[in-house]
Amino acid sequence: MGRTLDHLFDQNVAWAHRKTRDDPDFFRRMAEQQTPNYLWIGCSDSRVTANDVLGLDPGAVFVHRNIANIVHTSDLNILSVLEFAVDYLQVEHVIVCGHYACGGVRRALVAERGAMLDHWLQPLTMLYRKHRAVFDGIADESTRLDRLCEVNIEMQVRRLAATPIIENAWARGQKLHLHGWIYAIHDGLIRDLGPHLSSVEERDALPSIDQRVLQPVEPQSAVRRQALAAFSGINLPEEMPGDICEKGLTYRREQQE
Ligand SMILES: [Zn+2]
Repeated sequence: MGRTLDHLFDQNVAWAHRKTRDDPDFFRRMAEQQTPNYLWIGCSDSRVTANDVLGLDPGAVFVHRNIANIVHTSDLNILSVLEFAVDYLQVEHVIVCGHYACGGVRRALVAERGAMLDHWLQPLTMLYRKHRAVFDGIADESTRLDRLCEVNIEMQVRRLAATPIIENAWARGQKLHLHGWIYAIHDGLIRDLGPHLSSVEERDALPSIDQRVLQPVEPQSAVRRQALAAFSGINLPEEMPGDICEKGLTYRREQQE
């Protein structure tokens, strides 16, 4: 490959052409003004792109990404993005979306120190070290990493909820909901992890993050949520025969037939 990146310019032209062909007003609309309803705080990982995984066009989601989707309350970058999104764009939802098998989170689990990344990950590393016995008690390495990925998201939603930007928005009655999600690269599905926070009261009612380490929340994909909703209205026998499969939603009642 040479010094220039002509292939990317070519792809850009092809993309703009496709967009205009499919929707002649697309770029005219984009040029007017952005009115996204969501702020996405995600990982810099190249496989987790907000618009793609949400199936949204440009203009629909305001994005901030950094390694391991950390909310540092002294980070001018994230605070500027947050202020702009909440105060000016008036987004209604702020989503912290991490992902399983996160390389940034993996770094918090290793003993080696000294890289700039270790400074960045310090709050997560401290949490891991505090609860080392719990995490190291998980025998499977990838399960241990995924567990820390989940706890990291919950911790970042809480830190977000403690920023004066969010507190002020809630205090003036602005409708603003915070969400904690996790994305699985292996199947492309987002899982809802929580917490969902829409007020200072909800934030302050949360159990401590230490308690959450000991009592994990089960992440729910949309498919699983739909399955639970579908079955919630059915009076099932005490001993439910068969199984509910997350993907196939199969419920076999062989024993009753
Ligand atoms: Zn990551």
